Amino acid sequence: MAKKQFKAESKRLLDLMVNSIYTHKEIFLRELISNASDAEDKLAYKSLTDSSVDVRRKDLKITIVPDKQTRTLTVSDNGVGMTREELESNLGTIARSGSGQFKAALAQDDKAAGKIDVIGQFGVGFYSAFMVADHVTVLSRAWGSGEAFMWQSDGADGYTVTPCEKEAPGTDVIMHLKPNAGEENYDQYLESYRLQELIKKYSDYIRYPIVMEVEDYRQKPKPEGAGEDGKPEWETVKEWKTINSMVPLWQRQKSKVKSEEYNAFYKEKFGDWQDPLAVIHTSAEGAVTYKAMLYIPAQTPYDFYTREFQKGLQLYSSGVLIMDKCADLLPDHFRFVRGVVDSADFSLNISREILQHDRQLKVIANALEKKIKAELLKMQKEDGEKYEKFWSAFGTQLKYGVVAGYGQHKQLLQDLLLFWSSKEGKNTTLAAYRDRMSEEQPYCYYACGESVDKIAKLPQVERILDKGYEILYCTEDVDDFVMKALGELDGKQFKSVAEEDALPQSEEEKKAAQEKAEAGKPVLEAVKQALGDRVKQVRLSTILKSAACCLAADGPVSLEMEKYMSKVEGGQHLKADRVLELNPDSAPYAALVRAQQAGDEDTVARYAQLLYGQALLLAGLPLDDPAEYARLVCSLMV
Ligand code: ADP
Repeated sequence: MAKKQFKAESKRLLDLMVNSIYTHKEIFLRELISNASDAEDKLAYKSLTDSSVDVRRKDLKITIVPDKQTRTLTVSDNGVGMTREELESNLGTIARSGSGQFKAALAQDDKAAGKIDVIGQFGVGFYSAFMVADHVTVLSRAWGSGEAFMWQSDGADGYTVTPCEKEAPGTDVIMHLKPNAGEENYDQYLESYRLQELIKKYSDYIRYPIVMEVEDYRQKPKPEGAGEDGKPEWETVKEWKTINSMVPLWQRQKSKVKSEEYNAFYKEKFGDWQDPLAVIHTSAEGAVTYKAMLYIPAQTPYDFYTREFQKGLQLYSSGVLIMDKCADLLPDHFRFVRGVVDSADFSLNISREILQHDRQLKVIANALEKKIKAELLKMQKEDGEKYEKFWSAFGTQLKYGVVAGYGQHKQLLQDLLLFWSSKEGKNTTLAAYRDRMSEEQPYCYYACGESVDKIAKLPQVERILDKGYEILYCTEDVDDFVMKALGELDGKQFKSVAEEDALPQSEEEKKAAQEKAEAGKPVLEAVKQALGDRVKQVRLSTILKSAACCLAADGPVSLEMEKYMSKVEGGQHLKADRVLELNPDSAPYAALVRAQQAGDEDTVARYAQLLYGQALLLAGLPLDDPAEYARLVCSLMV
């Protein structure tokens, strides 16, 4: 029979598996046991929703059989099993969700050493069997089906699937172990003590019994009528024993769980290869009773900002998984959190639809939201470096959270935000910014731009910094929306430096400005005429210091919003009402006045174009006609 080929990416993964270094190989057992446990979970779940499936949870188990004669190690389960199609699609390609992350990790870390390290820490699934076996046979019979199939592969050249006999539903994964070679000892995976050790190490909390036939050395019962002082006799007996303790981690006492155990559980369960930044292990009793174990990841999942990413916590009811990703347990702003909630308050066969409206679920979700916030605040206070790490991974999500739903979560999220401080030269919280602020500072200032360096050079920030006021430098698209949603901080309004009234004027200043504006009227009108519809207005700036001009926006749409909208919506989008502001105290303005007074309309028009072009560039907006602008600049030289 012709062999079917693995998909290209699976091939690469296989290759890495086979060649991975010896010390990491032992994790294959954890991976296969974990698959077996998932298969039991699926069957247990099926039995809740489908009355034709009658299984008792206590009959579900995972069996490990080493056989020195045939040099095979078999991991069996009596779970859901796989149909022919499932064998093909699940084992012939990388179907698992985690594999995408694995690939992302490889792409990031494409040096040989890096690859191997990733394998050691990452959940790599079924393929890991090829780290220790040169041939793998999978016998499987799906629940409710009378047929069984055999999947076989020696890794490199693809696989075959053929019908076979199998008495009971479930799956056997039979690994034909590789021969020992140099440093690499595969015999150890046939040794009972070694297998027990590995099960204890990696799979202790698996909720189904992992059974193995083990040898016990014990005293023989005395034959009847034997004398008191006859020597005790010993014998070796073989018996089936459950190796794992089966207590899920979240059911254990917090003080008794080591941080390595928390981390190992996280990495295996959620397919991450980095330790989490924080673990929240909590429980409640009373109106609702639950235990929860939540994790804050250290890195952004590769698909976090895509439609594919699904938020949610695993929901268990008394140790039985009832939903893999219960979205209603997590608000969107904390969608990066992973974890498990176990509550006996949910009936086992509750449907998704009913669950959505469940009041208890809401109570738990609210309590968890508070816990997550508290944990993040604690991290912010106690370990700034860690918090920065968190912030760079998920800060943007929190900002979106502030903006979402017309700012309904802003109170909750405000304390968690960080912005770059002009004064500190690093990130600051809003509370710390407010603390540093003098009473005479009229507003909480922020300035938007592409990078901190560019913002620091914006014409509008000069005068505000001169006054000793601190500015929050905002480099993300969403920031302007965030500031508008926040509105104010402890009685002081947020103000973009780009707004016309960013620096309030004294009565005298106002008067002087009015006089200048009056005097400048003919110039401003001439410039407006030259620019036509491109700007709504041309006026004198009250904020510029050394720069000649800048671009501002009147009305509800800011320039930052316009930029953002043009990115997300493409062509047609909201346009800001553009205003060109000129600095009446600058030399270019004086030149403009001279040209206007001399009646040189051509020159006024040219200067107007030059100033408008500059203002666009400074604001980070594209020129309408770069070639024309270049020609104009050159004309100044000749
Ligand atoms: P993952 O378990 O992360 O999805 P694997 O490569 O380990 O990735 O397995 C791929 C798929 O094969 C699983 O998602 C599951 O559907 C199926 N599978 C693997 N082992 C078993 C098993 N023992 N019983 C039933 N299905 C299994």
